[in-house]
Amino acid sequence: MSGEAIIIGLTAPQADGLACVRCGADYLRVRVPHVPVGRSVTGSQVFACLGCCPDDVRRAAGGVLR
Ligand SMILES: [Zn+2]
Repeated sequence: MSGEAIIIGLTAPQADGLACVRCGADYLRVRVPHVPVGRSVTGSQVFACLGCCPDDVRRAAGGVLR
């Protein structure tokens, strides 16, 4: 119950937590610090790079990520 955002409009890798929901960096290929920023509609935890400003991702959780 820590205010997890449900983030929609993600690509499959993003929704699986394998890519940044913000910039789309592929975590299987790019080793970059990333933090959980919420969950996809399927319930998987999703991540954003530390430099990608997770607060921004939360704010964008209305689905304008593209
Ligand atoms: Zn990123």
